[in-house]
Amino acid sequence: MRVMHVVSVSGGKDSLATLLIAIARCGLANVIAIFCDTGNEHEDTYAYLGYLEQQLGIKIVRLKADFTAELLAKRMFIARDVRNRREYDTCPVFEADGVTPVPKRDGRGAVVLSKKGKPVQKTVKVGGGRRVRWTNKAKRRALAVMFPSGNPFLDLCMWKGRFPSRTAQFCTQELKTNMAVAFQLELMEAGHRVISWQGIRRDESENRRDAKKFERVGRGLWIARPIVDNTAAEVLAFSASRGIEPNPLYLQDMNRVGCMPCINCSKPELRAIAARFPAHPARIADWEWRVGQCSKRGYSTFMTDAHPAKDRRVVFADLNIWARIEWSKTSRGGRQYNLLDEEENRPSGCSSSYGLCDEGAGGAVAEEATA
Ligand code: SF4
Repeated sequence: MRVMHVVSVSGGKDSLATLLIAIARCGLANVIAIFCDTGNEHEDTYAYLGYLEQQLGIKIVRLKADFTAELLAKRMFIARDVRNRREYDTCPVFEADGVTPVPKRDGRGAVVLSKKGKPVQKTVKVGGGRRVRWTNKAKRRALAVMFPSGNPFLDLCMWKGRFPSRTAQFCTQELKTNMAVAFQLELMEAGHRVISWQGIRRDESENRRDAKKFERVGRGLWIARPIVDNTAAEVLAFSASRGIEPNPLYLQDMNRVGCMPCINCSKPELRAIAARFPAHPARIADWEWRVGQCSKRGYSTFMTDAHPAKDRRVVFADLNIWARIEWSKTSRGGRQYNLLDEEENRPSGCSSSYGLCDEGAGGAVAEEATA
């Protein structure tokens, strides 16, 4: 039985520093680098993986999700759908004071409780509802395009009939987490112990504030997070001190490496992507059409948001990728174009959110991470 050190490489600075630390501590022969390919990556990231392989003398295992079976099953489901149930919008019911919620009661008059033991509020149906069944028109539309494309991100969205969102971020789970976990489970089934190395920093977000440096997940499986205490500047400096260049995307206004674009992409980043890499928004626009065809609603937008309109054409017109790019050029909540801002923010030849252009930041700060 061997201990295998599996490092998830994304092409970004944090996973690179983690990989370098894992190699330094455990030796090249005991480290396996994996890359979960979402199919929505920038070409520079694919090229950068090759650069890392060459520089570090390591083979990065590419993992790619396959949704062929799911798409074929969904096609079958749509073609056979004969449900006749209706689906209604609901609104909560209050007492006469308009503030006190009316509790929901079951057939015997008892108050219905949630899983947490709290009373569930009564609701009433509003409007005439919608048919749950796929209409014949929607069936024809979906069955005409719902074929596996070989691109994991697109196939996942066609299967789900929508793009992921902040509240339903199934992309991370389906395209990355599940692939990495399956890979590690295979190693464990082959009799190895696995240490999963993750490039996570506590100062990245609220969710990661309490991330542990080392933890046992279960029998034969541990997680190591060697850079939890480091800052972005420190991990960059550490990799530079080892003579490894960062992903070139950091030098092109991108402050993170991952999907191009990510569904959670910030306004300035979206603006920079549109200006620097126009082929990617064009690809997303094509995906919006294909995923929309696979949706019962008839449309889907890459960057979702609440919208007061009921008419799908209005919602799509306001939220499609080109509209979002136009919005990314605005200020004051998106209502007004800021021409000065547009001019000032036009991407320059070489800029970086981490000050990479200002070379000489020093590479010793994160040295202690390897201690
Ligand atoms: S959250 Fe963003 S980067 Fe992560 S898989 Fe989804 S789209 Fe890609």
